[in-house]
Amino acid sequence: MAVVVDAPRHVGLQALLDYQVQQALAPGTLVTVPLGRRVVPGLVWDRAADASDLPPGVELRPVSAVLDAIPVLDARWRALVQFAAGYYQRSLGELALSVLPPELRKLDNTQLARRLKRWLKELQGPAACSPEPATPQLSSEQQQALAALAALAASGEGKGQGKHPALLHGVTGSGKTEVYLHAAQDVLQRGLQVLVLVPEINLTPQLEARFAARFPDRRLVSLHSGLTAAQRLRNWLLAHLGHADLVLGTRLAVFASMPRLGLIVVDEEHDPSFKQQEGARYSARDLAVWRGHHEQVQVLLGSATPSLETWQHVLSGRYALLTLRERIGAGEMPRLRMVDMTRLAPPAPGPGGVQTQQVLAPPLLAAIEQRLQRGEQSLLLLNRRGYAPVLHCSACGWKSGCAHCSAWRVFHKSDRTLRCHHCGFCERVPRACPDCGNLDIAPLGRGTEKLQEQLKELLPQARVARIDADSARGIEALQQQLQAVHAGEVDVLVGTQMVAKGHDFRQVTLVAAVNPDTALFSSDFRAPERLFALLMQAAGRAGRDAQLAQRSEMWVQSWNPGHALYAALQGHDYTRFAAAQLQERQAAGLPPFAALALLRADARTAQAAADFLLDASDAALALSSVQSVTLYPPVPPHLAKLADVERMQMLIESRSRTALQRLLSEWLPQLHSLRGRHKAVLRWAVDVDPLAI
Ligand SMILES: [Zn+2]
Ligand SMILES: [Zn+2]
Repeated sequence: MAVVVDAPRHVGLQALLDYQVQQALAPGTLVTVPLGRRVVPGLVWDRAADASDLPPGVELRPVSAVLDAIPVLDARWRALVQFAAGYYQRSLGELALSVLPPELRKLDNTQLARRLKRWLKELQGPAACSPEPATPQLSSEQQQALAALAALAASGEGKGQGKHPALLHGVTGSGKTEVYLHAAQDVLQRGLQVLVLVPEINLTPQLEARFAARFPDRRLVSLHSGLTAAQRLRNWLLAHLGHADLVLGTRLAVFASMPRLGLIVVDEEHDPSFKQQEGARYSARDLAVWRGHHEQVQVLLGSATPSLETWQHVLSGRYALLTLRERIGAGEMPRLRMVDMTRLAPPAPGPGGVQTQQVLAPPLLAAIEQRLQRGEQSLLLLNRRGYAPVLHCSACGWKSGCAHCSAWRVFHKSDRTLRCHHCGFCERVPRACPDCGNLDIAPLGRGTEKLQEQLKELLPQARVARIDADSARGIEALQQQLQAVHAGEVDVLVGTQMVAKGHDFRQVTLVAAVNPDTALFSSDFRAPERLFALLMQAAGRAGRDAQLAQRSEMWVQSWNPGHALYAALQGHDYTRFAAAQLQERQAAGLPPFAALALLRADARTAQAAADFLLDASDAALALSSVQSVTLYPPVPPHLAKLADVERMQMLIESRSRTALQRLLSEWLPQLHSLRGRHKAVLRWAVDVDPLAI
């Protein structure tokens, strides 16, 4: 009998191990098996998947235990895992076991049965008294979207065909969630389960509350990394047993076992958080589309600023497009006001001759003051937390670099530390310059902390709050801070992109991007796409209240106000922005017009990492499958050194996804054996469809 266990490929294990059993076990059964001297969890797998050739004379060891207190993981779930492992170049067992709740691997049959019994008893408790939930009147656009979706879902029905995924494109406030709720209702009425994926844990409570209010007599569970191990096991089991009607979660929830799955919704589908950044680097959005196709389940992707990959699928007719143009119960999108920073009077030199940068242009400051007088709120975005990005010595030019990374350490004034945001290296701020002893060391640039401080000076009567990863540690702290904003206890809110996402501030009539230009000149080809999404999302925060919408404004301070991105933003014109970006991507041979993979290597020296990649490149060039695939020379990534580890990467590109996949699967076994000759390489990994290159 074949079993997969959690072991990476490079330990020389075959994908499937053989064990002896008294009676045949169904594929998808959880077991524990001896492996070397250990006993490890495993999953019975289909023999045909990847038949292992057992050398003759090898004696099979027996399975240690069988966990049959729960139903097996069905063939559709196994197909999803098998596809993901193959596509993202991981071992089957590693992926299969890593996406199960960790608790499940620790329990034996008796423990599991006792747990289960308790939870199922809970479920039998008195049903919540459920008042008929108020269902808002749908707009004609929403009705059209739902009718189109129903037609789409019915089109593949009974023909054994996959259904076309649909993209629901609508600005913030256009009522996308209401469409999800109605689509879910249809599916629930047919006795099926619904899976809703959101990019971040922070967004789950809000959405959970909306779904729970709409479906009071349905069972809703969430799946994300913020749950305790026991909660995660409970929720996963309720989904697996079919007791949960709605499963709401972050990217890991795409692997939830759901026997009656009838609809998958991916909200904010463009969000980079759907891509796992370690281990199996899967895209939950892409896997959701694959899963929908394979299980013949309708997939609904939603976004105000779809990813260019998704948009290209719409243009090519692979995905259906459902559009919501109007904002519901809210006014127009706010007017855009560009501040041309090059026209401002040069700032006065500060102490030591260092020019203190102008925080906010005078007209923007005046606009914020106006809000203050009217009792409205302003939201200021700055994508850099901390006080200042770097400390600087004006005498010798010393800067507060990190000793372990190729990055600056950020000055945090509140606790007077210099902190590396990459490796966490933290020290007290030195009294004097460590290089020359000069006492006059000063912050350069600014982060959210400094912006907050300066705003307090400029607007002493205003209540200024800040929300970023430093201020909001943990989901509860964040909820409290957001609550204060909702309650009107804050006049000006300063924050990173965290505050632009999904939060519905009704009294905000001014949103300002303080320094968004950096993304225009990033080496990351996706930076403009992300900036546009962020600014559109931020703009959507203003004018949620129809009465205030008329005087809502989005301010952008820029040294490049004529940039095409801002021109598209001016008209809130995603289509125009996407067309220009797609043209650039096509000319440059970048996704979605090319498939990419990255081979990364980490070592103590850059040379050792590069040597491994060069040998790997030679090995690839000897393969016949390398045709129509391009391998680029090894280069250091943006952050070349991280926590004393030197990093190098090599880009692999092809116009054909299939050609790239073929090369990777032939190449991977070679890489595992190559590693043995490169002892200085600490780790290496393949990232298929990387988000940043
Ligand atoms: Zn100095
Ligand atoms: Zn560091």
